[in-house]
Amino acid sequence: MSQLNGKIAVVTGGARGIGKEIVKKLEEAGAMVIVADKGIHADKPQTLHFTVDVTDRRAVEQFFQSVTNRFGSIDILVNNAGISTMAEVLEMEEEDWDSVMDVNAKGVFLASKYAARQMKIEGNGGKIINISSQAGKNGYRYMGSYVASKHAVLGLTKVMALELAVDNILVNAVCPGIIETEMKRTERIWGGKLRGVEAAAIEAEDHSQVPLGRTGSPKDVAEAVLFLASNAADYITGESINVTGGMTMN
Ligand code: NDP
Repeated sequence: MSQLNGKIAVVTGGARGIGKEIVKKLEEAGAMVIVADKGIHADKPQTLHFTVDVTDRRAVEQFFQSVTNRFGSIDILVNNAGISTMAEVLEMEEEDWDSVMDVNAKGVFLASKYAARQMKIEGNGGKIINISSQAGKNGYRYMGSYVASKHAVLGLTKVMALELAVDNILVNAVCPGIIETEMKRTERIWGGKLRGVEAAAIEAEDHSQVPLGRTGSPKDVAEAVLFLASNAADYITGESINVTGGMTMN
């Protein structure tokens, strides 16, 4: 497949988990991919890694400026970096609320703003793909900050799609369900402590909740991102695609 030949893509949080698989998928499709991540877990020397904290306005602005100066216009931005914490809202520390909103919502705002500014200047259009979650459409116990942040991402997706349509910059979201990554493993441990059960019990429950009978893999999410990044999705903007094995249908 070479539908992204000559395209330049940036993936935030692309060093592991879902982001890493998105990087792989976009590279296989021919794109040059630049990873912006807080930590570097590079195991593929051909992928360009930059250390960027998406919550740091100055760092994000400088990153997009230097990427454009060095490599030319950015065609695709995937806002994937995300974190989660778990607590009942009544017990949630202010710091937990702030840190989740900062990475998951402000980080998407900052990266989208500076990437879209560059896309507008270059005048070639572009694609912004935000990794929200089924938590952006439903409520889940103990995940108040995460659910709020992922709803914010879907709201911003719609607003930016409207504001940037005139520049042919398409803004869409992908809403994954239960995807087997480090984040999910950690959530099961926290969730287990809050509910007084073993993480394994939550894992079994997770599997039984999915109509397709299995939890998802990072590859399942990356396929949807590739579709939105490709020309096949050139008439789609302001949309969100659920990748949940049937768990979420709204
Ligand atoms: P992981 O925790 O496995 O990976 C997240 C990546 O984001 C890590 O590489 C992490 O870097 C990076 N990151 C975290 N904070 C920042 C920051 N401030 N600046 C830059 N990079 C940062 O998570 P997943 O792969 O599971 O999740 C990826 C996305 O998918 C997230 O937005 C998540 O909310 C979403 N999602 C995940 C689901 C799941 O079930 N796994 C379900 C629905 C949505 P480091 O390792 O250095 O901290």
